[in-house]
Amino acid sequence: MNSRSRAHSFKSDRNIITEVKSVNQSLIFELGSAEKSGVDVQDCDFSANLIGDSFRKEKIGLPGLSEPEVIRHFVNLSKKNYSIDEGIYPLGSCTMKHNPRLNEKLARLEGFANLHPLQPINTVQGILELMFELSKNLLEITGMDAVALSPAAGAQGELCGILAIKQAFEKKGDNRSKILVPDSAHGTNPSTAALCGYDIESIPSNSEGRINFEILKEKLNSQVAALMLTNPNTCGLFENDILKIAEEVHNVGAYLYCDGANFNAIVGKVKPSSLGIDAMHLNLHKTFSTPHGGGGPGSGPVVVSSRLSSYLPIPMVKMVNNKFEIIEKESIDSFGRLKAFHGQVGTFIRAYAYILSHGADGLKQVAEDAVLNANYIQSKLKKYLTVRYSGYCMHEVLFDDKFLKGTEVSTLDFAKAMIDKGIHPMTIYFPLIVSGAMLTEPTETESKKDLDDFCEKLIDLAEEAKSGNKNLFDSSPTKAVLGRLNETAAAKDLVLTYSE
Ligand SMILES: *Cc1c(COP(=O)(O)O)cnc(C)c1O
Repeated sequence: MNSRSRAHSFKSDRNIITEVKSVNQSLIFELGSAEKSGVDVQDCDFSANLIGDSFRKEKIGLPGLSEPEVIRHFVNLSKKNYSIDEGIYPLGSCTMKHNPRLNEKLARLEGFANLHPLQPINTVQGILELMFELSKNLLEITGMDAVALSPAAGAQGELCGILAIKQAFEKKGDNRSKILVPDSAHGTNPSTAALCGYDIESIPSNSEGRINFEILKEKLNSQVAALMLTNPNTCGLFENDILKIAEEVHNVGAYLYCDGANFNAIVGKVKPSSLGIDAMHLNLHKTFSTPHGGGGPGSGPVVVSSRLSSYLPIPMVKMVNNKFEIIEKESIDSFGRLKAFHGQVGTFIRAYAYILSHGADGLKQVAEDAVLNANYIQSKLKKYLTVRYSGYCMHEVLFDDKFLKGTEVSTLDFAKAMIDKGIHPMTIYFPLIVSGAMLTEPTETESKKDLDDFCEKLIDLAEEAKSGNKNLFDSSPTKAVLGRLNETAAAKDLVLTYSE
């Protein structure tokens, strides 16, 4: 079934379509017509015989549009969106920091932007050198022994790390069945373990928001392949017991996988190798900066210790006799291939530019400023909102909904009201273990003035809620392009095609 005929099977009165129409922007397919074109193409008289059976028999169905129509369509759409270039974007765990324009400039250099992955190897020495140097830098920063650059994002990095661990056990003839995951983990952790065929055992968090060490010890045995731990964890807290945890995990012959999405908080300060970690993904788009709103592009290289280095996937870039080569053939131990070609090369260029322009001292300052900014917010807001766990936080601060008790205002209402204040909401209802969680990550790139402004707006809202102004919350957002959407329909009832 092609996309057009599928479109007909959707009812046209779905929420989303109606909403889009209500903000007065037609779909690009509705704007287009066959008589218009943005390019001037000569009539050609080649015959179908020339290309034989591969000659297209049906119209491709692209809309005909003039160049200004295309530009206006996309510029107008972009103006309906909120982006980090407009204001603070404090989505906890997502690390929505400023993306230096230098990275963009370098990624757009013609020599990089116009490369094709199937070019002869002697014509791509430059990008291979960049990937080789980026790998060296990532290994230096993490202290680990080997890296696979190809995973397409953090979630695929997890898959890469767990497949390497699985391969390591299979090569030893040791068939283990379980992976342990703390209850505060990001959903990608248990789904990765399940995808790799493991049973998942959840480890509860203790009253301080960290993994319960005693219960972990009880659950560790010779059936456990790995513990997947996030550090700093999704409560914005450093797992202080990590050395003891690594020791216990290793004592039963298992591996310690670290979800490195929060590496922003410790980059340049702590080498994961010194924490007993065997494998960890780095979300280059988070810690090392690439615009990643709207779902991409990401990149999730995986660094591993010497215990796992021979199991990593191909391809790899190696230097042989001063030339760069692509290792494509699987070694006997590698678990295979994850991704076409090399992964997200544009993100490698941005990450490499970011690392070089910061230098070792600059990266260390990234972590220090990220933690300082989060703690600044925590200390300014702790009298008005409720901080879930006491003590200093790392790069993100976790509020719960206790301060809204008795107000009939929910975390969701509070977040929607933030939109009317002109700021993007924080991550809400995650981690799942905290009631009405509001996970707030200012990142290191916000100024003191912007943090003060952010805090004032949140204090205002907290006071409105407590003073019983429920109406303000019920009706928000009123200033956004769209009002309050049906969140369930927006997630479950996607309309991705247009209907004629
Ligand atoms: C973002 C994130 C992931 C997933 O990473 P993607 O790059 O989005 O695939 C996993 N764990 C945590 C804690 C995250 O914040």
